[in-house]
Amino acid sequence: MESDFIAWLRKRLPSHPLLRLGPGDDAAVLRLAGDAECAVTVDLLSDGVDFELSKVDPRRVGRKALAVNLSDLAAMASKPLAGVVALLLPRQGAMELAVELYEGLLPLAERYDLAIAGGDTNTWPGPLVVSVTLLGQVAAKGPLRRAGARAGDRILVTGSFGGSILGRHFDFEPRVQEAMLLNERYELHAGIDVSDGLSRDLAHIADESGCGAVIRLADVPISDDARRLAAERADGVLPLDHALGDGEDFELILAAPPEEAARMIREQPLDVPLTDIGEFVDEPGLWSLNESERKNKIVPRGWEH
Ligand SMILES: [Mg+2]
Repeated sequence: MESDFIAWLRKRLPSHPLLRLGPGDDAAVLRLAGDAECAVTVDLLSDGVDFELSKVDPRRVGRKALAVNLSDLAAMASKPLAGVVALLLPRQGAMELAVELYEGLLPLAERYDLAIAGGDTNTWPGPLVVSVTLLGQVAAKGPLRRAGARAGDRILVTGSFGGSILGRHFDFEPRVQEAMLLNERYELHAGIDVSDGLSRDLAHIADESGCGAVIRLADVPISDDARRLAAERADGVLPLDHALGDGEDFELILAAPPEEAARMIREQPLDVPLTDIGEFVDEPGLWSLNESERKNKIVPRGWEH
């Protein structure tokens, strides 16, 4: 439903002089006084959809509610500045729950030097809903966008993929510093963070950029979690399938021109590995390239909001 709604909203919303970038990217970008630009992003997590409160420490939920927004700012290569937190709490034990959510969120806010500027809290008879809104400072170069990849650009990714359901989807480290460093030091054409799944989010960049993408399957970094999950479930779903489709890895996918990408791969400037997994191509769509160089159309899989 979400992609149809965003398509409707992009048509329906009037343009506004403040709005440099409206809905459809990882964050919106507002023009402020002078040359300053501000990235704005919001996320909504609810019990029963994004987590099960009966099975998880609320502090991890609070942390995640902030971390997913930090990841969206990372996708725009923007520096987190401030946030507000909205909580819709079940009436029973509301105060204790609110405190625990904040106790999970605040250490992460501190680590990113983020001002938590307040928010709103309500109780109701339904399940817990947490929403965090963040403001970020756009880099002098301008925001890193989903649109901008060109045919011939390399597809670069941070870290490894798959099996985040084993716990990493709560405890991941948003790639904020990594994105800012890469954006400052190298020429990047486009970027996104992986929430929906490697193949689906790669398709998002390709669609917004008006091009296609070819993934070299042998080069996809598969996480230990993806291997463990495939072994535990033994349902025929391969670790590679988990890497391509699981989602909530919160790693970055970047588009960079070939020579720049080669330099990034050579220099490996991050604590986390940077991997070249393929290239953007003229023809729209998503393809995989197997070991025998056979090209197959792939249907992007992953989380549909
Ligand atoms: Mg995102």
